[in-house]
Amino acid sequence: MFRRARRMLNRIARPNVPPMLRRANQFMANGDYANAESTFYELAGRAENKFPQHAPALYIQAGRAAILSNQTQKGIAHFRSGLTLLGTERRFARLEKIGNIILNELREHGLNNEADEIEQVIKNNLPTFTNQKENSATKKQVTLPTHCPSCGAIVNSNEVEWLDGVTAECDYCGSPIRAS
Ligand SMILES: [Zn+2]
Repeated sequence: MFRRARRMLNRIARPNVPPMLRRANQFMANGDYANAESTFYELAGRAENKFPQHAPALYIQAGRAAILSNQTQKGIAHFRSGLTLLGTERRFARLEKIGNIILNELREHGLNNEADEIEQVIKNNLPTFTNQKENSATKKQVTLPTHCPSCGAIVNSNEVEWLDGVTAECDYCGSPIRAS
């Protein structure tokens, strides 16, 4: 019984990280955005069935990789998939937050028409009133490691979901990431 409990704890603490996810993060880190795009996109498609909570972040990362490899139309399609899924999963605070980050990134790349298109996607997927309390509750002042210790994904403390005051959850593999 104890052994089973420990095994379950291990599974919670260290979920199986698909090697493909590590590879995708590695492509991104190396600036190989074309390969990052196709790998994140494939992971996102698989996640939709098995780990729907990770699919939005994977689509969004595929979108970033597409934009960085000058595949703008693909990028917009991936962003649209990721943001729409967040809406479907009713994760509105996150949709709003990550949506605004994407808008800034697109405008930084001079992609203003595309940003307008994505802005419309965000609006269409948000309820009329967003939960402000949820927004402020996710704002944390602790420092996270720059990369997920399990899968190597880049960790942005503005984008992650928090499990408690000092622990965030990796968007890509679900591992807990502790603030130092
Ligand atoms: Zn991870």
